[in-house]
Amino acid sequence: MIIFGTRGYVYQLAMLTLVCGQCGNPAAHSLRKYVTKFTLFFVPLFPISTKYRTQCTFCGMEQQLPKEHAEGLLAPAAAAPGGAARQEHTQG
Ligand SMILES: [Zn+2]
Repeated sequence: MIIFGTRGYVYQLAMLTLVCGQCGNPAAHSLRKYVTKFTLFFVPLFPISTKYRTQCTFCGMEQQLPKEHAEGLLAPAAAAPGGAARQEHTQG
């Protein structure tokens, strides 16, 4: 008997300050990678699906984005930690 299936993994990649498409706030967005792996006898063998999503921490909206876009967002964050132009707002 062969037991196989899939298993999902979530990786938190970065926190990015982006302007949200829904609420319009320049809020922190968590960039996550969702990987579905093929498993055989409960051992994950290889990924069959990889998806990238951002979630707005302000309104909670999730948005899927292509891999190239996600890597483009990650590249400057890795090259220049902190960033050149940094704005912080305090509310409430
Ligand atoms: Zn939002």
